[in-house]
Amino acid sequence: MRDLPARADVVIVGAGIMGAATAWYLAKRGLAVVVCEKGRVAGEQSSRNWGFVRQQGRDPAEIPLMMESNRIWRTLERDLNADLEWIAGGNFVVFQTEEERATFERWRAIAARHGLQSRMVPASEMQQIVPGSQLGTLGGIFTESDGQAEPAKVTHALQRAAEGRGARFLTDCAVFGVETSGGRVSGVETEHGAIQVPTVVLACGGWTSRMLAHLGLRFPQVWITGSVARTTAAPPIAEAATWAGVAFRQRADGTMNIATRSADHDLMVESLLFGRVFLDDYRKHGRDLRLRLGRMGLSTALGRVSRSALRRELTRYRTLDPAPNDKQLDNVLQRLKQAIPATTHVRIDRTWGGYIDMTPDMLPVIDSLDRPDGLVVASGFSGHGFGMGPIVGRLVSEIVADGRPSIDLSAFRFSRFSDGGPLTSDTVI
Ligand SMILES: Cc1cc2nc3c(=O)[nH]c(=O)nc-3n(C[C@H](O)[C@H](O)[C@H](O)COP(=O)(O)OP(=O)(O)OC[C@H]3O[C@@H](n4cnc5c(N)ncnc54)[C@H](O)[C@@H]3O)c2cc1C
Repeated sequence: MRDLPARADVVIVGAGIMGAATAWYLAKRGLAVVVCEKGRVAGEQSSRNWGFVRQQGRDPAEIPLMMESNRIWRTLERDLNADLEWIAGGNFVVFQTEEERATFERWRAIAARHGLQSRMVPASEMQQIVPGSQLGTLGGIFTESDGQAEPAKVTHALQRAAEGRGARFLTDCAVFGVETSGGRVSGVETEHGAIQVPTVVLACGGWTSRMLAHLGLRFPQVWITGSVARTTAAPPIAEAATWAGVAFRQRADGTMNIATRSADHDLMVESLLFGRVFLDDYRKHGRDLRLRLGRMGLSTALGRVSRSALRRELTRYRTLDPAPNDKQLDNVLQRLKQAIPATTHVRIDRTWGGYIDMTPDMLPVIDSLDRPDGLVVASGFSGHGFGMGPIVGRLVSEIVADGRPSIDLSAFRFSRFSDGGPLTSDTVI
């Protein structure tokens, strides 16, 4: 048995970027924080993403959050005293169709109303952003204040900073369930014993829906698999993280992360349970999604209904490590070489896959639930939570310590899945 604290002020379930950032902000306020992680820190989505930190293209509801997050990112290396490979090189999207151009023009006007400056870039000026490229003739949109950072470093740096303020991180420590008494949170049951605690933050990525199911709460969430490749070093190309039919960003050592928007969906019990609410999203983005019969999806079907099955799953799948789609990534590399001739000699050095936790409207839940009182959820970041990590950590700490967040989070309320609110996505990337 591990040496568990008997009690804490807050237990955070999950040591991805959301859990680690929340721990940092809460520990800075002097609260006794314990983070329980079933596997290793940042083992799942938070170390496997592209590393784009963008305001550009987001659902209007996310723009104010992301603008504030952007401000935090700008000083984060100094605040955490860590190298995060932060590059403030902007985010550039190259249009593939006239329809896309019109959509982004509308988005740019909305962003401008929030005070976010993005500019339409004519084809003749694209060389200034990605020199030596052949990206197309329709132009693009550029948000200069955006950036990129290295996912393999950020969550660990937040962990170290949180630990420096007294937070405890317990790895290989799955939380099997949240205990309640009289309608409020009273503790958590972990694989190493119980912790008494009045406040629990569920920051457990793709596992949140199952954790909530055992509290009688319905959170529509499915997993899709994204694939990413790291190339060998290329000559300096651009500092902007770019989407041009292929997504790429170049690190200071010349290596590049490359990927595409296409993803695989391993059919799972949630695909059937929530299929209907995901239909709109599927119709919009279905051409980017390939359905597969996933062994893992099927073998975890019982975890929704039986708590003992969920225990087995949480300890069997310590770190979700889905197979990347290597064929898709070979195609991505070919497209990169066509778009940027200077990359002709690069090779793929390694590839990886990552499960993405999707909600029907592609918006997260960042909310304190009415019942049980004391339960806060930060989950469902739908493939774009890395950039939001710092602000989500701060806002969750405000919910816990002040009773309310400093930015309006009504668009991210949990009750939208049951109060009949529209579940449509206005994200344009
Ligand atoms: C391929 C890919 C590309 C992406 N690209 C980008 C990008 O460029 N920009 C961007 O902003 N975002 C991107 N994202 C999304 C981003 O990575 C996620 O939104 C973000 O990392 C979510 O963080 P999280 O902390 O909520 O979840 P996670 O990082 O998944 O962390 C959740 C943690 O909870 C743990 N856990 C779960 N259940 C339990 C339990 N019961 N007990 C204990 N521990 C538990 C898990 O083991 C896991 O470590 C991408 C994601 C992927 C997969």
